[in-house]
Amino acid sequence: MRLVSLAGPRVAAVSGAEVVDLDAASRALGGPALPGDMCAFLAMGEAGMLAALRALAFAARPGNAALRAPFDPAALLAPVPRPGKILGVGRNYGAHAKEVGGPAQELPRIFLKPATSVAPPGALLHIPPAVTKPDWEAELAVVIGRPAWQVLEADALRHVAGYTVLDDVSAREFQFDVQPPQTSFAKGMDGFCPMGPWIVTPDEAGEPFDMEVTCHLNGEEVQRGNTADLIFPVPALIAHLSRFMTLEPGDVIATGTPAGSGAFRTPPRWLRPGDRLRIEVARVGVLEHGIA
Ligand code: ZN
Repeated sequence: MRLVSLAGPRVAAVSGAEVVDLDAASRALGGPALPGDMCAFLAMGEAGMLAALRALAFAARPGNAALRAPFDPAALLAPVPRPGKILGVGRNYGAHAKEVGGPAQELPRIFLKPATSVAPPGALLHIPPAVTKPDWEAELAVVIGRPAWQVLEADALRHVAGYTVLDDVSAREFQFDVQPPQTSFAKGMDGFCPMGPWIVTPDEAGEPFDMEVTCHLNGEEVQRGNTADLIFPVPALIAHLSRFMTLEPGDVIATGTPAGSGAFRTPPRWLRPGDRLRIEVARVGVLEHGIA
């Protein structure tokens, strides 16, 4: 399934060129009411997913065209418009760790992005005028489905609701030009977390071990990596994080970025007004956004 959030809010599923409001379709077939808030929907767990699948199948019947609407990408909110928390991971791809430099890490480097940094797919970001080094980071993002606390790596993927695409926008001067570094602040400004277009469930996306991640800036390829290069793969991240904090339904983990973001290019390249970004994660989707 491809789960999206629409204004209301409503949780819907994209099927081909159409979108189905899951609550409306579920009620029409006599099933349970489904929350319009993505976090509340995901908190229903397996029962919610099953009801959604039934609703989607019911809406697909020839007589039920009224339950379907044309899919309009411009109407999308971020798939999780207000996550409880967004956890980011620094320097998590081998090739990116090499370009950044420094000693090997024994543990993932975690930072947080606030819910107010979330922006929908297609957003035109307004970089704060005082920021001098705005940069991009193409990433696979994990959306948590089942609460996770003290989870073993072997069980970790059972806590994943699905995957989405994320740009971990960063004001580099707060990461690299100040002491001590202010990583969460650098990555936490308004709109610095465009996300989407949807959450793809694991039955469609497959396991997150061999996913190509690419970023095009104004049509030019600037990043290409593969989650096979992750120093701490998704199960290791979930296990590590859940040792210290409970991961809740709708929480998002930004898994890190491959080599090639602006700060590490020669010469460095910062985002500018009018820039267009196209970030793709294989089997998950394409996130596009611009800079105002
Ligand atoms: Zn990042």
